[in-house]
Amino acid sequence: MTKWVYDFAEGSKEMRELLGGKGANVAEMTRVLGPERVPAGFTITTEACVEYMKAQRSEPEGMAEQVAEALDRLQEMAGKTLGDRDDPLLVSVRSGARESMPGMLDTVLNLGLNDESVNGLAENTDNERFAWDSYRRFVQMFGNVSRGIAGEKFEDAIKAAKDQRGVSEDTELDVDALKELTQTFKDIYAQETGEDFPQDPQEQLRHSIRAVFDSWVGNRARAYRRQNHIPDDWGTAVNVQQMVFGNKGDTSGSGVAFSRDEVTGAPEPSGDFLPNAQGEDVVSGVRTPRDISEMREWMPEVHEQLMEILRKLEAHYKNMQDTEFTVEEGQLYMLQTRNAKRPAQAAVRFAVDAVSENLLDRAQALMTIDPGTLDALLHPTFDPKADFDVLASGVNASPGAAKGEIVFTAADAVAAAEDGRDVILVRPFTDAEDVAGFHAARGILTSEGGKASHAALVARGMGRPAVVGAQALEIDLAAKTVSVNGTKLHEGDRIAIDGTKGQVTTDDVPLVEARVDENFEEVLRWADELRRLDVRTNADTPEDATRARELGAQGIGLCRTEHMFMAEDRQPKMRAMIMADDRDSRKEALAELLPLQQEDFEGIFKAMAGLPVTIRLLDPPLHEFLPNAEDLAAAVERARLEDAHDLPRLERLLERVHEISEENPMLGTRGCRLGILYPEIYEMQVHAILRAAKAAAEPPHPEIMIPLVDYEHEIEIMRELVKSIGDQEGLEIGTDYTVGTMIELPRACFVADRIARFADFFSFGTNDLTQTALGFSRDDVESKFVPTYLERSIIDRSPFETIDKPGVGWLVRLGAWVGREAHPGLQLGICGEHGGDPESVVFFHRAGLDYVSCSPFRVPIARIAAAQAAIRYPIGRWD
Ligand code: ADP
Ligand code: MG
Ligand code: MG
Repeated sequence: MTKWVYDFAEGSKEMRELLGGKGANVAEMTRVLGPERVPAGFTITTEACVEYMKAQRSEPEGMAEQVAEALDRLQEMAGKTLGDRDDPLLVSVRSGARESMPGMLDTVLNLGLNDESVNGLAENTDNERFAWDSYRRFVQMFGNVSRGIAGEKFEDAIKAAKDQRGVSEDTELDVDALKELTQTFKDIYAQETGEDFPQDPQEQLRHSIRAVFDSWVGNRARAYRRQNHIPDDWGTAVNVQQMVFGNKGDTSGSGVAFSRDEVTGAPEPSGDFLPNAQGEDVVSGVRTPRDISEMREWMPEVHEQLMEILRKLEAHYKNMQDTEFTVEEGQLYMLQTRNAKRPAQAAVRFAVDAVSENLLDRAQALMTIDPGTLDALLHPTFDPKADFDVLASGVNASPGAAKGEIVFTAADAVAAAEDGRDVILVRPFTDAEDVAGFHAARGILTSEGGKASHAALVARGMGRPAVVGAQALEIDLAAKTVSVNGTKLHEGDRIAIDGTKGQVTTDDVPLVEARVDENFEEVLRWADELRRLDVRTNADTPEDATRARELGAQGIGLCRTEHMFMAEDRQPKMRAMIMADDRDSRKEALAELLPLQQEDFEGIFKAMAGLPVTIRLLDPPLHEFLPNAEDLAAAVERARLEDAHDLPRLERLLERVHEISEENPMLGTRGCRLGILYPEIYEMQVHAILRAAKAAAEPPHPEIMIPLVDYEHEIEIMRELVKSIGDQEGLEIGTDYTVGTMIELPRACFVADRIARFADFFSFGTNDLTQTALGFSRDDVESKFVPTYLERSIIDRSPFETIDKPGVGWLVRLGAWVGREAHPGLQLGICGEHGGDPESVVFFHRAGLDYVSCSPFRVPIARIAAAQAAIRYPIGRWD
């Protein structure tokens, strides 16, 4: 027979998968602090919840009996019986999943009260008011949780009772008022459910347990799980625990306490408490709580005990704790503890302090940091103390805050930046043509798209704050206005966005500057000592490269060359190259681009001062450098009407656009296919790279990367091409420079051994590899079917955010393994967006790669994540 129920005395913190976080930690506290500090009880397992859900909401066999037995043991220990008319036992029925889901799941307090036991409780405690206050709370919570009766129904009745008696606080309602209110609540219950409020405590318990199970599949909980990547099939445990009462008078109370300041991480405990209150009063905001330090005046001994317990728990868990406590007539009880969620600054401060206090060693301290939150330390944010009105909310796509005037086009953003004005680029969505605007703007705001939309990716890559998918915004590009719930904003109006929180406001919110402070520096130094993976950056400009080095990048893992051709002074030359009728005239056009490219590379080599720089030869389809076909057709039409002199040029351009247009250009003539068709383009680029290398003061490490290789003959031909230019420049392949490939097609992973024979390195391009392996187009799917897939639990997050381990991840492992088998010294890296995603970094560590490469602002995050990977998986390989 499966064991569905565990007494607190049987559990431990290692059992959180089975007992949920709350149950496991209550059990652990019972051991560590002693049973007199933790009210007794038992936990019904998460497995029981899973079975219950599978069986269409019916309890698994044996559960009811085990609950009854556990209840008997609890009654024995408490010396009280549930529903007893003289001295009743009361219990709470508390939800508790594996990961905490604050406020998402349900809890019922004061269970066991009925029309008779309420009198027993009153007499036994000599406190009639307390007994009736508890009873009305129970009817309210039970009705709300078990039967779904709207909270306002009860709140309205409380308000009516207070108005009738001319009082303003709940605590001012006297016994008679509470008796009447309890009756009113029971009437509401009967009206809403068509049944009387259940008097049998066993029935109350059964219903409440079911209600907690049911809350797991409630809409609120499901939405939370999707946001936080918590699987739907974990289930919640249910904890049944003897009640202790904080609402028994002036020597009772309830509160929450952190073992250290939860905002700054400073070593002083923080928290809130309320005298004469039950736990939910503290968090609900009905009454204003008092600071934990004031407990010292209220009850000095209890305060001292609490401080001692916080120290003890922190030392035991080796992590900052977040606790709930209740004082019943001077006796302190601990009801919950868990590792405190904390903002980045507190996380970093705690890690450093914990090491200097000898609480943790460096590796342990590093493991307490959630690298995903560290973003906040690297960007300015809204002043957390500021008051402002939120105009609209959207997806927090790229962290940091920014203020500026609204502009609607990239060109306007560029013009404004040249005038020295700060602007926010506001668009429904963005595409490649808007990229210049990202550089010029302080921040990006869109009304469509999600975390993996073009706007989000580019903004994160550049470290520009962005809020995307703010659906309340109606953006009229023609009129240059934004309408939001009745407010209309025009070009030039000032707005502020916080990409860390996903908020938009018209208020002039003060910003607080980010800086890598001493604590963060220290933690990063430890990470560098512990990690095995190198961390490089994706950077196309000397500015980005410099920024990334400041943040600890050990080289460039991906320098894309196409942006260099998008710049205004380059575009006409690039177009001339594409328009060339034959190879010779193309070479002439390329000759003009060569010195410009060379300058670009010189700048980058200088910024990287001898560190490796992987440069990808031209990758995108050529049509991206020409005007869009529709715009061009319209221009031709206009020129024809006006009989303009440049009509023939426009017509020729349109013809060329048609010639090179493809049904699906992302699967078309791009990557090394360009190099095969137009070798002179790659030749020019290689000359530029190698001449820049020769000109550099500190000899750089150029790694020339051939994109989109499918066949070994492609890389063979390209390697030969690069080498022949290298020979012309008098440089030695393998020493002065290396040649490798971006692995971004499934076929390349399968034939990695053949490709590796012609490559010095592989760099996994996981963005395109995800697109091609899944057959998903990144720009399209985000807003189309991905939301539904998340909704239906087909996937639990976008594969463009965290590597799809069993699918795309397997291809990476295969490519790495097979490639190294054929070429033992092969260098392996990854340069997709995933290189900055902590969970993916752990995966790449285990796949045996040598480095990850990510956008400059994610470099510190990757350093920490790589260290955590090395701590968790010291061997660093699957094999
Ligand atoms: P949540 O997960 O929403 O915090 P909890 O199960 O922790 O829900 O309970 C809600 C409130 O009720 C908390 O303030 C908690 O301290 C209090 N509470 C829960 N069980 C008891 C109990 N046995 N005695 C007194 N207070 C309790
Ligand atoms: Mg709680
Ligand atoms: Mg690619």
